[in-house]
Amino acid sequence: MALSPFAFSSMNLNQLKNLSDNLPDTERMPLLFVGHGSPMNAIEDNPFTRSLHQTGKDLLAHYQPKAIMVVSAHWLTKGTFVQMSPRPEIIYDFGGFPKALSEVKYPAIGSPESAKEVSKLVSTIHPTQDWGLDHGSWTILKHLFPQANVPVFQLSIDYQRPMSYHFELAQRLSALRDKGILIIGSGNVVHNLPKSFEMMQQGKEDYQYDWAVTFDNWVKNKLNQRDFQALTDYTQAGQAGTLSVPTPDHYIPLLYNVGMASAKETITTVHESVVLGGISMRTFRIG
Ligand code: ZN
Repeated sequence: MALSPFAFSSMNLNQLKNLSDNLPDTERMPLLFVGHGSPMNAIEDNPFTRSLHQTGKDLLAHYQPKAIMVVSAHWLTKGTFVQMSPRPEIIYDFGGFPKALSEVKYPAIGSPESAKEVSKLVSTIHPTQDWGLDHGSWTILKHLFPQANVPVFQLSIDYQRPMSYHFELAQRLSALRDKGILIIGSGNVVHNLPKSFEMMQQGKEDYQYDWAVTFDNWVKNKLNQRDFQALTDYTQAGQAGTLSVPTPDHYIPLLYNVGMASAKETITTVHESVVLGGISMRTFRIG
């Protein structure tokens, strides 16, 4: 961009700030929360995976993301890290699944430039070459963007921090949406694996625990009311909340979505279902 010697005098602070940033401003990117569920979804064709295909198609028809940043339930750390490999490795971070699942490839490149932008925005976020793409990322990206033609990188979850920390960190990172970065939270609103295993053992795969449905609806209502702050305290939903979120790993990614959202934005349900007793596949788009 060519600047006349007098240009700065007529610029406001925001314009000056933008000039100093690496990435140019773009149209504000939407946000996506995906309830990823079983890794098997990577190689299955079902209403959930079909909804991802459609959403990816819709997104790419209207936006040209420079990169995708995934906040996955499966990268829990002490401190917050951002992955900056030019070619992130696929991590097969599960056991006991068919071999076909470990043969899935997702050859997207990384975006070190975007990762740098993240750590510049919040200096306590550390860039790292560790990690890659865990199954919270590639099992859903496989359906959303099957051509793997958008660079991808992950942001870790500092698992020692309270819920409010994640919400506030997301607020500070929301400027990334204006830098062409599509942010995806990948977890599950309801995620009680021990209870779900009980149902699997009994062959009741379509069963839905009352508390799972109640909490899934509680989250849906808070989203519809744009009461994003309330979502930082799932215990407000009583026993339904504590049973649905026995550990917060799969719930926290949601806080990155709502922390980056504004109340005016449209929220669209992409998919909703409660499966295996206690797993909610709720998936939605903001903006
Ligand atoms: Zn998971």
